Amino acid sequence: MKQASVLVCGTGIAGLACALGLSRAGLSVDLLGPRQMPPVRPADDYHPRVYAISDTSRALLDRLGAWRLIHAHRITPVEAMEIHGDANGFLDLSAWQDARDTLAWIVESGEIERALQQAVQVMGVAWHEDQFTGLETKGQGVCVMTASGRCWQPDLLIGADGARSPVRQAAQIHHDYTPYGDMGVVAHLDIERPHQNRACQWFTGDSVFALLPLPDTADGPQASLVWSMPENRARRWLAMDAEAQQAYLFAHALAITGGRLGRLRLRTRPQGFPLTLERTAMVAPGVALVGDAAHRVHPLAGQGLNLGLGDVQTLIQVLSDREPHRAIGDLQVLARYRRRRAEPVWAMGAVTHGLHRLFGTQCASLAWARNQGMQLADRLPFLKRQLIRAAAGD
Ligand SMILES: Cc1cc2nc3c(=O)[nH]c(=O)nc-3n(C[C@H](O)[C@H](O)[C@H](O)COP(=O)(O)OP(=O)(O)OC[C@H]3O[C@@H](n4cnc5c(N)ncnc54)[C@H](O)[C@@H]3O)c2cc1C
Repeated sequence: MKQASVLVCGTGIAGLACALGLSRAGLSVDLLGPRQMPPVRPADDYHPRVYAISDTSRALLDRLGAWRLIHAHRITPVEAMEIHGDANGFLDLSAWQDARDTLAWIVESGEIERALQQAVQVMGVAWHEDQFTGLETKGQGVCVMTASGRCWQPDLLIGADGARSPVRQAAQIHHDYTPYGDMGVVAHLDIERPHQNRACQWFTGDSVFALLPLPDTADGPQASLVWSMPENRARRWLAMDAEAQQAYLFAHALAITGGRLGRLRLRTRPQGFPLTLERTAMVAPGVALVGDAAHRVHPLAGQGLNLGLGDVQTLIQVLSDREPHRAIGDLQVLARYRRRRAEPVWAMGAVTHGLHRLFGTQCASLAWARNQGMQLADRLPFLKRQLIRAAAGD
């Protein structure tokens, strides 16, 4: 029987993981998109983008043979999270409270990409450095056009082409888009006090200031900052010269963190990303979306990529479990994928959006309730275990 063919468009983490997983599941896979192997960085130089990887995502990367290709000394386990409200609210989530060692792992984007690219190479997945330009429906299937003038007729086209997804647009897949009016600004910082593998987050009312632990370097301990703040303020900060950027951080960070990790200094230049809540119908005949092409959530829970890797895992499962008479692009098969992703994607969007609104409101009674709610949650071991399991991606 002819092997079913898949074309994965997009060579970010979701696309690479998808191509690798489907190839390992026995499908004939081609990858379409730019190819740039992230360089191996010197010991104390860290890629500016890092992700909190959940246990479920780590397990997927492990099954794909990629986790073991990431240098162990560049992976930072998160053993506890402390979340500070804007008044006296405080929540401490420690791995031991749910009888586990780790809540998540902080890993550089470049390291994950490099490991996945190596695994894709070992698997012999054909990689075409070309660009998706359009789509035509042909009978039951699709015809995919690329910038080089090539036309592909895969049994299934997967759009893993990021938040602006040209595949989603060409396949006319329904897409809801809500801008937050905020930017997520990321940078690595020198910290004075050891982080002790704790992730710390402060809700300040109009911003969320998060510090993720990174490995210590010869210059001392460091953490990665993710600061979600109103877009106009973020743009002003990003436009400043290096000295003014340091002064801005110094002026605000001490007030927000109360000196929790001592004095904070920028190690890398801050980079900003506009924040949106996006939801899509995820499938069309012969087409499925994964990763940011399929959804985007606020980064305050550090779960966007984990959600995308959840798509990859589910899509592999659904395609592998289909009845032998069904084609992989059959809308009935793809609808199963959409149904199975609907609840986790909706829930993550609802939780992150709800928290963003709850902590953004000026209403005094809600401000009181959110901080009391945190204090109450901190005293309820059962609820804390549920929160820990959600953070771990269980
Ligand atoms: C501030 C911030 C912090 C975050 N922190 C976390 C975190 O801690 N944990 C977490 O899980 N998530 C986090 N996220 C979310 C995470 O960044 C994204 O979910 C993830 O990067 C999406 O990966 P992706 O592979 O779906 O898309 P992308 O990384 O955008 O990849 C898309 C790929 O498609 C390619 N492409 C685009 N157009 C075409 C075309 N026409 N033809 C061919 N290829 C094309 C691009 O070149 C690229 O390779 C964070 C997000 C932000 C903004």
